[in-house]
Amino acid sequence: MSVLIVGSIALDDIKTPAAEHPDLLGGSASYASVAAAFFSPVNLVGIVGEDFPKDHIELLSDRRIDLAGLQVVPGKTFRWSGEYMPDMNTRETRSVALNVFETFTPTLPEHYKSAPFVLLANIAPDLQHHVLDQVVGPRFVVADTMDLWINIAKESLVRLLGRVDMLILNDGEAKQLTGETNLVKAAKAILALGPEFVAIKKGEHGCLLFGKNGEFFSCPAYPLEDIHDPTGAGDTFAGGLVGVLAREGSDEPVDFAALRRAVVFGTVLASYNVEAFSLERLKTVDAAQIGDRSRTLRRMSQFDAD
Ligand code: AMP
Repeated sequence: MSVLIVGSIALDDIKTPAAEHPDLLGGSASYASVAAAFFSPVNLVGIVGEDFPKDHIELLSDRRIDLAGLQVVPGKTFRWSGEYMPDMNTRETRSVALNVFETFTPTLPEHYKSAPFVLLANIAPDLQHHVLDQVVGPRFVVADTMDLWINIAKESLVRLLGRVDMLILNDGEAKQLTGETNLVKAAKAILALGPEFVAIKKGEHGCLLFGKNGEFFSCPAYPLEDIHDPTGAGDTFAGGLVGVLAREGSDEPVDFAALRRAVVFGTVLASYNVEAFSLERLKTVDAAQIGDRSRTLRRMSQFDAD
């Protein structure tokens, strides 16, 4: 089954304690689409300017990513610049240039509208609403967000929560959104706003998954010695997760067991992503490596293992 993904497609300038690289392929939809395409076909919706390099388009089109919903318009591609502190967890946004994003109206090609799985990757909540308005009877809708939208578009974001099945956000965002300082309380407050499930990411400390019926799952992060660039880890996690759900897709509603499996694969893909800048590592990883790391992650989480 296919996944519809809408989000940002960007040119990023990234500085980490180890290195600095300009003009990298970035954006929530780029990471999420490449991650999801390991598991299922993707219908991508986004916008770039005429300056967007052909190589980047090829990287996406060489995979199972349908680009019929990619608008290439006069003007410059969205640009974002970030710098990581020595702990690699703290990040500061250096600059943002919306460019072609300022006039973006996501329009779904006809054949995208029946996609059963939808990932509203990080993008303004009003645009996420606009995509949902065009989709016909989706089976499972996942939304991602960021602190910026909680600050400047909270009303729209809260309204969106009444329209999605699952929200993915990080621990700081969960606290910011709900005003709670405890993550279990924050998860309950988010579930009360609408979604059936919420995943709260804790960076190098893994991820907590909560369900409305009291279900709970904790997945550790894959332990890594060398992290080169954490950019896009969250988007990769979300894309991998939804891709796995779509691959497993049946007529039954998505259940917690399927979500647990999806969280494990999302975590594995995110661990590969942070091993290099941009999508450099993701584009070389293969199914055998994904399988190996997911088995290791499962083994290391067993309390009763030898
Ligand atoms: P993450 O590290 O998962 O938070 O995602 C980083 C990616 O998000 C970068 O590649 C950026 O281009 C993209 N990004 C940064 N700010 C925004 C924004 N305001 N809207 C959409 N995407 C953004």
